[in-house]
Amino acid sequence: MDTGNPALAVDCPHCGLITPRFLQYCRNCGFSLWPTPTMASAAFQAWKEADPARRDARPYDLELPVVAGPEEVDFEERAHHLGIHLFPPSSYPFLICLGIFLLALAAIPFGAPVRWVVGVVGMVIFLIGVFGWVVLEDVRMYPQEDIPVERAPSGGQASSVNHEEERH
Ligand SMILES: [Zn+2]
Repeated sequence: MDTGNPALAVDCPHCGLITPRFLQYCRNCGFSLWPTPTMASAAFQAWKEADPARRDARPYDLELPVVAGPEEVDFEERAHHLGIHLFPPSSYPFLICLGIFLLALAAIPFGAPVRWVVGVVGMVIFLIGVFGWVVLEDVRMYPQEDIPVERAPSGGQASSVNHEEERH
């Protein structure tokens, strides 16, 4: 048993086609590559233990499985190319919700001063949240996003040139 040979597949001595090396029978013609299944699996185990890189191999594979991690996608970059506007990850929405909550409290008929105070405070918190999220953080996230939009009315060619450049 040659454990130094890294190949998982072998040319069948009977039909000449490629077949898994550690299956008892040739996958194409049924020629017996190993006398018994026990010998085939013992050989496979010995072959696997000879190299840690072969750990994930299976006897019916023709090649070592390629270990690929989860594909990493830059969704912000992709959304930008597709022209989809993503709002930045932010804690301002919590502030917006708090403001809306206080505004809703102001709708409950307590006394007029209480409703005014709660309503004004709620409105201020709400506006701070909207301003921070939409104006401050959004502009920071897409600093040049407005430039193509400003150019667009002057001529369609400029924007199409921009798209060409983005693709390359
Ligand atoms: Zn064969």
